[in-house]
Amino acid sequence: MSRFKAILIERDASGCTQARVGTLGRDDLPEGDVHVRVGWSTVNYKDALALTGRLPSMRSFPMVPGIDLAGEVIDSAHPDYAAGDRVLLNGWGVGERHFGGLAQQARVRGDWLVPLPDAFDARTAMAIGTAGYTAMLCVQALEHQGVDPEDGEILVTGASGGVGSVATALLARRGYRVVAVTGKRDEHGYLKALGATEVLERTAFSEPGRPLASERWAGAVDSVGSHTLANVLAATRYGGVVAACGLAQGMDLPMTVAPFILRGVTLVGIDSVMCPATRRLAAWAALAAEFDTRWLDAMATDIGLGDAIDVAPQVLAGRVRGRLVVDVN
Ligand code: NDP
Repeated sequence: MSRFKAILIERDASGCTQARVGTLGRDDLPEGDVHVRVGWSTVNYKDALALTGRLPSMRSFPMVPGIDLAGEVIDSAHPDYAAGDRVLLNGWGVGERHFGGLAQQARVRGDWLVPLPDAFDARTAMAIGTAGYTAMLCVQALEHQGVDPEDGEILVTGASGGVGSVATALLARRGYRVVAVTGKRDEHGYLKALGATEVLERTAFSEPGRPLASERWAGAVDSVGSHTLANVLAATRYGGVVAACGLAQGMDLPMTVAPFILRGVTLVGIDSVMCPATRRLAAWAALAAEFDTRWLDAMATDIGLGDAIDVAPQVLAGRVRGRLVVDVN
């Protein structure tokens, strides 16, 4: 394939960005020591920001979005990879500052790649994607902080989204009692099928609350931020742990230090983008061992390359359930 399809984000003289499906040649690709034939990519929340021109970290144009990719090595100058190897990539600025995965080919640094676990094909890896790998980083953070299933209930916010869906399923499988928070009235059954024991309405969390509330949560995975995260921390039990990874409600955190200094609550920040290779490999190994691919029947929707552009506003509006998987071919 001499030329290949890619989503291109371009910026005009007035500063407006536009996303379209275009074509690129191999020579258009940025520097990197591994050339990959991409099979599948995804639309994460950050990709939706990029596709709608709202990602502040994207400052160079044209840019190929797509923070995730999975496929096969075409050729490699990296000692760890050879032609034919199955690989995946999450983050490292790919799809923000370096051409990303919403294309049929990519050239990347071999140090950024993760060998595709034997348990997964490329589509499954992308159905999990950055959202699922981040969910596992959150679950592992709770584990490393010593939160055990017998300690009490674990709250998952943004539960019907990508991070939330995978976190709900993984925690339930580990034996935690998961309480899911969602704004989608018609997805309570979906969340219970993933293992949530109870589903709560988002409105109970998204408005300003008290500095401290009745203690309920032994732990939490929050992908929402803002008042929601503040309210979660205010109701976290003595010594509880909250893993915070997202900002679907907002980047602010309007709260007091009361949960920290009066209840010894721990807030753990989770970053998937620059996460060191050893922790990524551990997260993907745990996903290979624990992620039940049957969950994807309800969690994942396959779309084409051009559809990714059309669906991005729906993602930002919080209207998409689970994960969007992009067949780039
Ligand atoms: P999704 O769009 O799939 O899910 C987000 C979910 O948040 C929605 O489905 C909705 O769930 C809920 N939500 C949306 N808008 C609001 C709102 N205004 N108030 C409260 N809840 C809302 O996104 P992802 O799961 O891919 O990502 C979630 C967040 O995590 C994003 O902010 C993303 O940037 C961040 N993230 C961070 C990473 C990191 O490395 N730190 C990695 C991956 C994601 P429901 O309807 O069920 O309430």
